[in-house]
Amino acid sequence: MNAIGVDVGGTKIAAGVVTPGGEILAEVRYPSSGSREQLLSNIARAISEVREGIDGIGGVCLAVPGFVMSAENKVVFAPNLHTIEGVRLKDEIGERTDLDITVENDANAAAWGEFRFGAGSEVDHLVFLTLGTGIGGGVISHGVLLRGAQGAGGELGHVTIQAEGGPLCGCGNYGCLEALASGTSITRRARRAAEEHPKSALGRIAADRDVQGEDVTKLANEGDELAISVLEETGTWLGVGLAGFVNIFNPDVIAIGGGASKAGELILEPARREMRRRSQSPSRDLVTIKEATLGPKSGVLGAAALARDESGEYVLGS
Ligand SMILES: [Zn+2]
Repeated sequence: MNAIGVDVGGTKIAAGVVTPGGEILAEVRYPSSGSREQLLSNIARAISEVREGIDGIGGVCLAVPGFVMSAENKVVFAPNLHTIEGVRLKDEIGERTDLDITVENDANAAAWGEFRFGAGSEVDHLVFLTLGTGIGGGVISHGVLLRGAQGAGGELGHVTIQAEGGPLCGCGNYGCLEALASGTSITRRARRAAEEHPKSALGRIAADRDVQGEDVTKLANEGDELAISVLEETGTWLGVGLAGFVNIFNPDVIAIGGGASKAGELILEPARREMRRRSQSPSRDLVTIKEATLGPKSGVLGAAALARDESGEYVLGS
């Protein structure tokens, strides 16, 4: 049976009807800005619209940007979407749509999407990281999504990898992987490099406007050494984090998605090198580190694949 995946992001809501084979039959988008009531009504409206004319919806899963208490289907902390905090989404959206609602962390949902339909579809053990404004993570071990005791597990972006002198993270801690290897960290590093080297290509951009992450990728692809070094430093820190994940989870594949993954091998190659230096055999010999394949659709696809029916079973099967 088909299921609906809803990716509730910091700026927009994307809802899609997904077939058991991972095809998106219909998709609608709404903004996620505004009051709590506007957000809830936009989510409900997106679900109602997207299911129009499609028979048989088995369940709906909302992928939300924050820590999810799975027992209560409630978001307790959502730094990029505060309006959603504390809301019992299962009840609120369930009543408005008359459908069974499941709630999941957005990175966990994206990880599940890559596991079912993308970079991890051939394996049973997948670690997924999304490098964007922050770093989201998800872990699938033995084909099961790791949630932990409360549903808050898999927060790979907030492991500390530079305990002394590390930069401040959005979570309030210092030296998290997110603070050192996210898209935001690339921008921060590039702006510092531009200041230190005003005659460089980055420096010339900075004389005119703020340097962005895309500038770094573009210049690096053109062979600019300073831009390449910014990505290399980022990839090296990423590799420090990956080494820990390789040792802990012994994954077949680590898939890297999100906006910053557009830098591709310029980040992944130093990340692999650092991972190999710091992790142990046989795990480091097995693992493949590669780009995620679903792009921004991983949220909707993964959420739909995590939707459960009233008996608690996954609608799309496994
Ligand atoms: Zn953090």
